[in-house]
Amino acid sequence: MPSSYDRIMAYVAELDIIDTHEHLPPFEDQRDPALDAIQEYIMDYFNRDLRSAGLAPAELERVKREPMPLMDRWRLVAPYWELARYTGYGRALDISARGLYGLDGVQESTIEALNGALRCSHQPGHYEYVLKTKSSIVISLLDGGRPSDQRYFRNVLNLDVFVFPKTVAQVHNIEAQTGVRICSFDDWLQACEIALDLGLAEGCVALKSPLAYQRSLHYQRVPRWQAEETFVHFFDQFHFPDWLEAYIQVDKPFQDYMMHHILRLANQRGLTFQFHTGLQNGTGNLIANSNPELLSNLFLQYPDVRFDLFHIGYPYQHVLSALSKNYRNVYIDMCWAHIISPQASISAMVEWIDSVPLSKISAFGADYSFVDAVYGHQQLARENVARALACKVDEGLFDVDKACEIAKLWFYDNPMRIFQLEAKL
Ligand SMILES: [Zn+2]
Repeated sequence: MPSSYDRIMAYVAELDIIDTHEHLPPFEDQRDPALDAIQEYIMDYFNRDLRSAGLAPAELERVKREPMPLMDRWRLVAPYWELARYTGYGRALDISARGLYGLDGVQESTIEALNGALRCSHQPGHYEYVLKTKSSIVISLLDGGRPSDQRYFRNVLNLDVFVFPKTVAQVHNIEAQTGVRICSFDDWLQACEIALDLGLAEGCVALKSPLAYQRSLHYQRVPRWQAEETFVHFFDQFHFPDWLEAYIQVDKPFQDYMMHHILRLANQRGLTFQFHTGLQNGTGNLIANSNPELLSNLFLQYPDVRFDLFHIGYPYQHVLSALSKNYRNVYIDMCWAHIISPQASISAMVEWIDSVPLSKISAFGADYSFVDAVYGHQQLARENVARALACKVDEGLFDVDKACEIAKLWFYDNPMRIFQLEAKL
């Protein structure tokens, strides 16, 4: 008799899925053919584990940029690669090499063959092979990069430049994009609304903010005059010549006001808003800034916005559990989570079945900027979901048929509904 995991996995392995978050080049011919296999495979996340394992920053820079033979590059990273091979980041790469090219993971004996395969992959059809044929992804929500290949992507709109502008050049860009000359604070607010509506007219399916990388997620209510007082200083460096970068500094009250402005617009339109919460990629950030609990006032004040909270809020996944339980408009998005920690993802799902309605969870978003790893991530996600559901079947809570139904809800039905994709595919 096959185990409940095997029976659930047999179903989950064949499921068509929605990918809630990607950073891939919007067209496959925009992939960088100059990168070799090591440079490409460590691009997004694995280089962080290599550094964490002890690879010196200067050596990592050499691996990423200096012209040197592939095997020399491998010898530099190999000791650290072995130490990080079993993290989620490492596992996704081994699964990709195996599943896409039939190689025995990424190691000394396979790295040259992987490099050859990657070189051959720079031709039309690689996106189709990885995203559709091998990964059964119906559609991926793409962060940035408009326009994009609509066979694979729907775009998500980022309006953070209105919240946290940094240069005068950005203001001029906004003028060009929206047709609004920024002469007053009213103009700034109007340009923001026009940028939103232009994005929606171009087919964007949701909003996204990654500002938890730069500031706290606590957006307080502030009076308009306070934001306008900061806006006055937009013009302090307007007289700089074009060969000097002119900067803008906005304080927290300005940012808070603008996020509330955007949320009001999103609320009027009944939009879904993706927020980065939890772990920040890279080194040395302030994890407390990205605690999803800090968004609670927004959940209450914008009840018609669907808040799609990224990365299971890791390591605040239990906080997110309570938020999603308490607020009708808060959803759990597992993008990036399955490779941050496979076990944390499985444990969280086991607990969510006990605490959160089944309609609140989207099971997968690969969050990669190179396509091969999307395969490894979705495979890991399918295994993790099957493991969590098998745990509940073995407890006797429901049977395998119900587990399969839940897997389809999480991988397909929920993201279709949360992002209202039905009419947009
Ligand atoms: Zn991302």
